[in-house]
Amino acid sequence: MVDLSEPVGVLVAGGGNAGLCAALAARAAGARVLVLEAAPHSHRGGNSRHTRNLRCMHMGPTAVLTEAYSEKEYFEDLLRVTAGATDEALARLTIRGSAACTAWMEAQGGRFQPALSGTLHLGRTNAFFLGGGKALLNAYYRAAEARGIEVLYEAEVLDVALRDHRFHAATVRHQGREHEVRAGALVAAAGGFEANLDWLREAWGAPADNFLIRGTPYNQGRLLRALLAQGVRQTGDARQCHAVAIDARAPRFDGGIVTRVDCVSLGIVVNRNGQRFYDEGEDFWPKRYAIWGRLVAEQPGQIAYAVIDRKAIGRFMPTVFPPIQADSIRGLAALLELDSDVLEETVGAFNASVRPGCFDHTRLDDCRTEALEPPKSHWARPLDTPPFYGYPLRPGITFTYLGVAVDERARVLMADGRTAANLFAAGEIMAGNVLGQGYLGGIGMTIGTVFGRIAGEEAAHACA
Ligand SMILES: Cc1cc2nc3c(=O)[nH]c(=O)nc-3n(C[C@H](O)[C@H](O)[C@H](O)COP(=O)(O)OP(=O)(O)OC[C@H]3O[C@@H](n4cnc5c(N)ncnc54)[C@H](O)[C@@H]3O)c2cc1C
Repeated sequence: MVDLSEPVGVLVAGGGNAGLCAALAARAAGARVLVLEAAPHSHRGGNSRHTRNLRCMHMGPTAVLTEAYSEKEYFEDLLRVTAGATDEALARLTIRGSAACTAWMEAQGGRFQPALSGTLHLGRTNAFFLGGGKALLNAYYRAAEARGIEVLYEAEVLDVALRDHRFHAATVRHQGREHEVRAGALVAAAGGFEANLDWLREAWGAPADNFLIRGTPYNQGRLLRALLAQGVRQTGDARQCHAVAIDARAPRFDGGIVTRVDCVSLGIVVNRNGQRFYDEGEDFWPKRYAIWGRLVAEQPGQIAYAVIDRKAIGRFMPTVFPPIQADSIRGLAALLELDSDVLEETVGAFNASVRPGCFDHTRLDDCRTEALEPPKSHWARPLDTPPFYGYPLRPGITFTYLGVAVDERARVLMADGRTAANLFAAGEIMAGNVLGQGYLGGIGMTIGTVFGRIAGEEAAHACA
């Protein structure tokens, strides 16, 4: 039984990857640790339980990564996707710290798959968790329990009290009652605000009503909001997020990875008016999938439809939902509730503009359209082989980037320029320091692991 009236050493708010890394590191540094997790036991692990991999720098092949991935290349990749919107010192700290991640994770019970090849071509840069993020988080919880870390489920941090730039106490709701929990230090690891539909609406307006949330409904951003209200410095802006196109039939929350639609580059995408609106073959899918959530969000009604023909089947990872299927474009339009004449015209114009080329989905091939707006730059083949298939698409929000500013010791920075001595942050709640915009696959878990470990250790020292 956890006694909430008893002050603890390190209080960790949030039981996802960042929170558990912080808790394990704080415990290893000798602190008494209490993790407060808003979700019930069955849904512990936040968005982290949906993940598959993390991105690691390494100087040569390892048991779980091929070749090498240098700090220079990693940082250049990050600069490219963020267009420079990153704090270089924190980004380099993340990248250097990533080199030690897999060994540390294995020491906590995490397991990895042998290096992968396949659709996402990530075997060189990303280490894949055996059993996915769910297995990783279960291993972390097992290690936490074995090491005497206390965990309280259905315990939501509602507010925090800071006194003279120091964390004093948290207001926690548990089993319908509010408690004041005092601690020597707090690690804020309660994720972003992506599941807070009102907050998304504040940022995006009415279109947010049509967004689906790929991860946990428990990331409501309450702690983030409380910290900002206490004078903590904000980083990032509320509209920046990771958003992909997911199957419109996915649930409102927690659909996870199996709802992502990966056939965009093999066909065309039209909006509800039956019109194409972006180059589906602009670049390799792993480099482009993260822009499609935003593109769909900008379309009328925040809905779009990916259309492919039989030639595409077997060339992409299918979603958990079967595609909608018809023997003609007109038939498909009717099933998708699109105007049949318009869709037929769009497909006809697309087919007529396709130049002959040598189709190769593994490279930027020469199959492209000519005199078509928008163009399709690669992998353009006529949609002429029935059956035809359609996937309805909605914006799927993965996580938001608005967060709290931190320094290299994961200490939270105040808006007035001071540093909060015993208040730390890790994971999504501070990821915006590194990811001002854009996304680099696998860096979410890297940020959480690197900063979680730093935050946990620092918090243990701060309360010693
Ligand atoms: C479908 C999907 C796939 C993804 N795949 C990958 C991937 O393969 N690789 C990668 O790097 N990233 C991936 N991400 C992003 C990744 O999930 C995040 O970057 C990472 O998990 C963030 O970890 P975190 O611990 O900060 O947040 P979370 O894992 O979301 O944990 C936050 C925890 O805080 C709890 N909480 C929230 N509010 C409170 C409160 N007020 N009080 C107490 N507890 C609270 C929540 O219940 C939750 O358990 C994916 C995300 C999704 C949704």
